[in-house]
Amino acid sequence: MTSANTVDADLTVPQADEILAALRAGYRSIDEGYGFYPGFDGWLTSLGYHKRDDIPCTCPDRGYRGHLPECRWVR
Ligand SMILES: [Zn+2]
Repeated sequence: MTSANTVDADLTVPQADEILAALRAGYRSIDEGYGFYPGFDGWLTSLGYHKRDDIPCTCPDRGYRGHLPECRWVR
C-alpha cells in the first residue's frame, strides 16, 4: 500500500492545499470567461505538475465515483 500522496517512488500527486489553490484558479478562470480547466490546469502546470495519460488513475477511490479534476496530475 502506497501513501496517499505517491503513485510510485518517482511520482508525487498534488497536495491538498495545491489542489484547493488550483480549484480557485479554475473558478477565477470561469469568471473571466475561459472555463474551468484552463485555470485549473494552468495552475498545476505552473507548480511543475503534468497530466499523464500513461499512468493509472490517481483518484483516492480509483475513479469509482468519477474522476477528480486532479486525476493523473503528477510531478
Ligand atoms: Zn481518476
